[in-house]
Amino acid sequence: MAQASKNARTSSTTQKFFCSCGGEIKMKTLFENGKVKNVAECDKCKRKERRPSDFK
Ligand SMILES: [Zn+2]
Repeated sequence: MAQASKNARTSSTTQKFFCSCGGEIKMKTLFENGKVKNVAECDKCKRKERRPSDFK
């Protein structure tokens, strides 16, 4: 993997994403038809996307 940017903040181990509404994106694990599915959900407006990067 590429090395992490030295300009990035090092205070948190997990990357944070924010929705266009300003809410924080939380990763959730769902079980659907016996399969594990990860979705990203906005804490504020409850918008769901497959990946946090889709919230832009
Ligand atoms: Zn939102």
